[in-house]
Amino acid sequence: MKFCSECAHPLTVAIPEGDNRPRYVCTHCGTIHYQNPKLVIGSIPVWQREGEFKILLCKRAIEPRYGYWTLPAGFMENEETTEQAAVRETEEEAGANVRLGKLFTLLNVAHVHQVHLFYLAELLDLDFAAGIESLDVRLFAEDEIPWDDLAFPTIRTTLELFFADRARIREGGGDYGFHGGDVTRPMRSADGPAPEQPD
Ligand code: ZN
Repeated sequence: MKFCSECAHPLTVAIPEGDNRPRYVCTHCGTIHYQNPKLVIGSIPVWQREGEFKILLCKRAIEPRYGYWTLPAGFMENEETTEQAAVRETEEEAGANVRLGKLFTLLNVAHVHQVHLFYLAELLDLDFAAGIESLDVRLFAEDEIPWDDLAFPTIRTTLELFFADRARIREGGGDYGFHGGDVTRPMRSADGPAPEQPD
């Protein structure tokens, strides 16, 4: 941030009186430009019919992580709820119709100033299609998940937790749980550490 959005004066970085962190401060109009974490929200669309059990993933058509697989997700917009954001992103990126379920993961990605939320979702039909930000959209059985080609650490963590819960449910019943956690390290790939900024 270089200029004040209120008066267009160049900004300086300073700790305001009574605060304890450096902020972008406008010395001309006095506005303090606070920066806070962003919410990235997505879904885990599940297709379950007659013994079939598959998860919908999108192949990214944009940087970062072009060509890697992700759950449909993106930044929450103003004036929408977290549930609306999850449904909207699933529609935009995968053209998929889902019935949203419970919140499944809430993962802090503090070092990139983000919080990632993923909702369980039931895929209602097979009329999905890649949106403008996706190269491809496909259903994957558990043993087909492209673990080495996932876009972001929170996608891997969410899928690992999902299939762990599913294994537990198949053995002893119960239901999917809620999982909170922190992602602190970048995910390694062949071409170096993955950036963690979706979209
Ligand atoms: Zn200003």
